[in-house]
Amino acid sequence: MRTRVLVHHAVSESLDLAAGTCSAMPEAGGILLGAYRGADMEVTGRTDPGPGDERQLFSFTRADPLHDAANREAWHASGGTVSYVGEWHTHPWSGVEPSSTDAATWRSETKRCGRPMVFALVAPGEWGLFVVRPRWPRPSISRLVVLEAGDVGVVHG
Ligand SMILES: [Zn+2]
Repeated sequence: MRTRVLVHHAVSESLDLAAGTCSAMPEAGGILLGAYRGADMEVTGRTDPGPGDERQLFSFTRADPLHDAANREAWHASGGTVSYVGEWHTHPWSGVEPSSTDAATWRSETKRCGRPMVFALVAPGEWGLFVVRPRWPRPSISRLVVLEAGDVGVVHG
């Protein structure tokens, strides 16, 4: 089944901004917050890197407690509908293609969560969205394209 993802405008704009500023910087990243709407998903927020994260030239390791705190806060504020649905990180030196490490990490995270997850890659000048679905023998990774823009956000599918 095809998964459509509604990305709220504030999230799109912040990823546009990251795409404009990430070139030749250490990698940045964070989590994506959102909700499931039947077979579809909605991304309503994201976190920025914190001082406890490890930002290297060619890797980003999420370690700052702010990401978990933002997840808990979103969960409580939404009455249990909004939470961690995926991750984003930058590729300051390349494009919007998952590295083999990215693909392996995304698949194991999707397996662990047992539901479709959404991942964003941000490169200089562009960003892209991927949905990873639990599948046997291994989760499938699909890159989404922009379908339409509306009042709330942009639909990718
Ligand atoms: Zn990567």
